[in-house]
Amino acid sequence: MSRANRFDVIIIGTGAGGGTLAYALAPSGKRILILERGDYVPREQDNWSTRAVNVEGKYQTKELWRDKDGEELHPHTNYYVGGNTKFYGAALFRLRKEDFGDLRHYGGISPAWPIRYEDMEPYYTKAERLYQVHGERGSDPTEPPASGPYPFPPVSHEPRIQQLSDDLRRLGATPFHVPLGILLDEKNRRKSKCIRCLTCDGHPCLVNAKSDAQVLCVDPALEHPNVSLLTNAYVSRLETSPSGREVRKVVVQRDGATEEYSADVVVVSCGAINSAALLLRSANDRHPNGLANRSDVVGRHYMGHVNSVLMAISKCPNPTVFQKTLGLNDFYFASKDWEYPMGHISFVGKLDGVTLSAGAPRLVPGFTLDLMAKHSLDFWLTSEDLPDPDNRVTIDREGNIVLTYAPNNEEGHTRLVAKLEGLMKQQAKCLAHGHECHQGLFARNLFVGQRIPLAGVAHQNGTIRFGRDPKTSALDVNCKAHDLDNLYVVDASFFVSSAAVNPALTIMANALRVGDHLLERLR
Ligand SMILES: Cc1cc2nc3c(=O)[nH]c(=O)nc-3n(C[C@H](O)[C@H](O)[C@H](O)COP(=O)(O)OP(=O)(O)OC[C@H]3O[C@@H](n4cnc5c(N)ncnc54)[C@H](O)[C@@H]3O)c2cc1C
Ligand code: SF4
Repeated sequence: MSRANRFDVIIIGTGAGGGTLAYALAPSGKRILILERGDYVPREQDNWSTRAVNVEGKYQTKELWRDKDGEELHPHTNYYVGGNTKFYGAALFRLRKEDFGDLRHYGGISPAWPIRYEDMEPYYTKAERLYQVHGERGSDPTEPPASGPYPFPPVSHEPRIQQLSDDLRRLGATPFHVPLGILLDEKNRRKSKCIRCLTCDGHPCLVNAKSDAQVLCVDPALEHPNVSLLTNAYVSRLETSPSGREVRKVVVQRDGATEEYSADVVVVSCGAINSAALLLRSANDRHPNGLANRSDVVGRHYMGHVNSVLMAISKCPNPTVFQKTLGLNDFYFASKDWEYPMGHISFVGKLDGVTLSAGAPRLVPGFTLDLMAKHSLDFWLTSEDLPDPDNRVTIDREGNIVLTYAPNNEEGHTRLVAKLEGLMKQQAKCLAHGHECHQGLFARNLFVGQRIPLAGVAHQNGTIRFGRDPKTSALDVNCKAHDLDNLYVVDASFFVSSAAVNPALTIMANALRVGDHLLERLR
């Protein structure tokens, strides 16, 4: 292989994991090649169009996967520089300290991670700084101990959300400000990069004011002369040395041609589903079940959370623009009402009539979709799904992705929904409509017919789990494959359990942790 195609490190994928790792390794001076199957998100008006984004799915991959029955699956995922962080809601949570240990759930045990919260803590702090998280330490009762404050103050609530927060407090709950990665300066709005708009969650940021992996990590990494990026570079296969102990070739499809690259260290970070698929596609004589898969766990234990979007509709309007500021974790763990965890409550970006119009609507009597969206608080509920070896990513004969998933541990989620409904019913009387103001809680999927739950892979994780025992895990504690000497995985694949908060900050923090290990190794 020519010297031009030989590197010290190759990183495949530029999302929360790969982008953050590139940033961490860039100052080392090592020759680093970043390979990304997508391009930069085009900066255009449609970035902020709910029709283009939510109805037409303009930026989603057009790739087709299959479910276990061979039915087509249109995955809600995005292939761009910055990965899914270009589209995320930027709610940047630490896992809870307890999430790192065994946790008893109604549906079974959520297993312990091979590292403790304390091992990750310094990297959470670094990741919060790097991604400029705005939050309020100490206001979330389940928040784990932290060695420093959030680098930026919390994002303020708009009046309707503040009213909800006050109401919840009156009912004895402890709402808090969601930690958010948006480059908002509320003290100096004239100079603030973020303009606090309606189209953040699910959209790319037209003004590059979201703390995403492209803006904050990949672009700065590329300012180092030793770092280069190839876009539209799809990695189709990894090939090993004859012994099988080393990845020797990274095979890339680009501009209709096949290219080959090599490096001392190869890091896979394609997202939990694509990374598992890549390792499975790379099976050879030494690794007949797929690369790094002597344990037979690669592709297994797929998790993606039990999620719901619930609209609480009231007679009074909700004029909120940026809605994702409030969270509630009072039901995250076992409580006096129930001995098992239920999960996390927060918000999605404000829904509008256009978004709701995608699919066959079932209307609440007296409301049009537009009116309904103007009168809704749009909650996001997350509960933990448990790692089931039969929930898995496989590939078909042509190498296409097949996703098999049976939801589990749903009872906690059902109870979480009931908790929210109970709280909403007890809201303070509104001056105009009294208690009759609250019309009820409605699942967004009632209105958005095209939403296929399995295709909602936004929180995908767990498919290449890390652990100390090579028989039950594919990666060691440094996220190096047990079976190979130079292969690492730093996206959401390494999760052992999914916890019930959003995953991105943990992926970023872990990439920084693995980055420290790699800097040591490359010295
Ligand atoms: C709409 C939406 C909202 C979300 N909101 C939040 C939130 O508020 N908070 C939160 O914590 N999380 C949120 N998430 C989830 C979060 O974005 C992901 O957890 C995170 O981006 C995953 O990081 P990753 O590195 O594992 O993968 P990704 O970010 O998906 O990155 C993988 C990268 O690999 C590339 N790639 C894939 N296959 C190949 C290949 N074969 N060759 C080369 N490149 C390849 C992809 O193009 C992509 O750039 C949201 C996700 C979505 C879609
Ligand atoms: S709210 Fe801020 S960060 Fe989000 S899309 Fe709008 S301007 Fe960008």
